[in-house]
Amino acid sequence: MTTYSKLGFIGLGAMGYPMALNLHKAGLLAAAYNRTHSKAEALAKEIGCLAVKDIAELAKHCDAVATCVSADQDVLDVVDQLATNLKPDALVVDCSTVSTATARTAAQRLAKNKIDFLDCPVSGGTEGAKQGTLAIMCGGDEKVFARAQPILSALGQRIVLMGPVGAGQATKAVNQIAVAGIAQAVSEALAFAEAEGLPLDKVIEVVGSGAAGSWFMSHRGPSMVAGRYPLGFKVALHEKDLKIVQRMAAARGVQLPLVEMTLLHYRHLLETSHGEEDISSLHRLKRRLFGR
Ligand code: NAP
Repeated sequence: MTTYSKLGFIGLGAMGYPMALNLHKAGLLAAAYNRTHSKAEALAKEIGCLAVKDIAELAKHCDAVATCVSADQDVLDVVDQLATNLKPDALVVDCSTVSTATARTAAQRLAKNKIDFLDCPVSGGTEGAKQGTLAIMCGGDEKVFARAQPILSALGQRIVLMGPVGAGQATKAVNQIAVAGIAQAVSEALAFAEAEGLPLDKVIEVVGSGAAGSWFMSHRGPSMVAGRYPLGFKVALHEKDLKIVQRMAAARGVQLPLVEMTLLHYRHLLETSHGEEDISSLHRLKRRLFGR
């Protein structure tokens, strides 16, 4: 069975940088590329990997490449360069959140040069990326998935093959709908609690330990009720993901009410310069309903 020993990383952003560090700790990382070269240089200085200036050069040094870039077109731009520069039998693992259609297009373009592809979007935020505890939802061939285990287990704890290419991204879309619902519910409930004049720390304690308890209530609740919305997960990124969900639902002739409402709220937050805040800033809009 082919194993991959020389891994390249593309996209050293909020998620990618700590993911690359974990791949280095696992002894897998050979080289890194970032569009803004200074970030690759910073990583090279920290761990001693190679910082390359273009993707063609990265491909020369690697038998597998992990990517974590922003959106659909970014993934396809990177994949096009990998497709013509990686050797046959190499592997590309994409951890960005994009559409199922983009995942399938990426796989087809790479397959023309006999390069394998897995769509492996992640959940768990920057905290999970740093701690190597991400949930990873994968799409692709079973044998390729098995060969990629050392790479994936350096990044995450719960790693599940969901089906063929695209199934990972479809699962991530499921995740993003649920995240929207939880953020809507908790922000609205806490704004209501404030209007009722309740002691908010006690609300979070008692409600959070019953049937309405959630990670979002216990981790984001305390900052939310203090009127602070530290990152976390940016409104602008969740908006991008919900637009992917919106297009997937539209392809089935469906509009999802929760997704449509959350996109309206996010548009308002983006227009009022809150797009870089954590999604718990939905609480701003809920408080306003009570005239606060
Ligand atoms: P980020 O901090 O904005 O980083 C994006 C990275 O992609 C940067 O390194 C950027 O390079 C690079 N990039 C963007 N377009 C590119 C292109 N066309 N060619 C080459 N490189 C390109 O974003 P992030 O938070 O790390 O998120 C990355 C992906 O993970 C997104 O798809 C996001 O939805 C997903 N995700 C994020 C979270 C989270 O909590 N942040 C959680 C789960 C999943 P520059 O440095 O030059 O800009």
